[in-house]
Amino acid sequence: MDTMNNKVALVTGAASGIGRATAVLFAEKNANVAISDVDEEGLRKTADLVKEQEGEVLSITADISKADEVENMINKTVDHLGRLDYACNNAGIEGPMTTTVEYTEEDWDRVLNINLKGQWLCMKYEIPAMPENGGSIVNISSILGKVGFAGAPAYTAAKHGLIGLTKTAALEYSEQGIRINAVCPGFIETPMLDRAGITTDKETKKQTESLHPIGRLGESEEVAEAIVWIASDKASFISGDSLMVDGGYIAR
Ligand code: NAP
Repeated sequence: MDTMNNKVALVTGAASGIGRATAVLFAEKNANVAISDVDEEGLRKTADLVKEQEGEVLSITADISKADEVENMINKTVDHLGRLDYACNNAGIEGPMTTTVEYTEEDWDRVLNINLKGQWLCMKYEIPAMPENGGSIVNISSILGKVGFAGAPAYTAAKHGLIGLTKTAALEYSEQGIRINAVCPGFIETPMLDRAGITTDKETKKQTESLHPIGRLGESEEVAEAIVWIASDKASFISGDSLMVDGGYIAR
């Protein structure tokens, strides 16, 4: 995996956090990179970081919950960069922190539309665009794709659903050389955790750190390492898996 020369990687949610770190790492491995997000300003910053490497970078503004925008994102990637070898379906939102009863239908639909339907739409258009001799897709689920979390019903349902979807798509497309896996991060220090109040409140941060046997929160770069590795040929016999990058969180 030292080199992904002449290969093309697409990363959604690349304007921030885990997506940004993943886009930069793909570029460090010599891939040409398409970065996509709804946040144009964040995308520009990521593009600057990716440009520090040698390969090409293409920025595409797209909302992954809208089929026409996802289709356009894939078409642009192939038109401008010539192919699509790796896709990291990472864009996601946390949604409000409230109970199953208090959750509104509007919030439920928004979280499911982005965190589950959006990932499906990405795969729907990515898979036919991949070369005949294969490609690799990494869907970003979560520890909350494996265990429940009081106060995050829609997020937890979407992330569990994404693991089922990943397994099913892997069964459908492994034979044609497309490996499809999920990566499940623990709590990672990104703007998402700031918005959720986890990193901004000292006591909450300490409590959250203590949920990880390693004793701290993760870094985006640590998740990116796992994503780029499982996407690469180094992981050539891995398909339908959910790789935990969680400091031991679900080992309890
Ligand atoms: P982040 O820093 O908030 O980055 C997510 C990016 O996705 C943002 O730039 C966001 O833009 C964008 N986005 C949101 N909705 C979108 C849409 N409909 N279409 C395209 N882009 C959209 O979050 P992160 O922590 O890096 O999270 C990345 C992924 O990892 C998510 O799927 C998340 O659920 C998952 N994850 C995160 C953690 C964690 O602790 N951080 C743990 C487990 C799993 P806006 O900022 O403008 O909304």
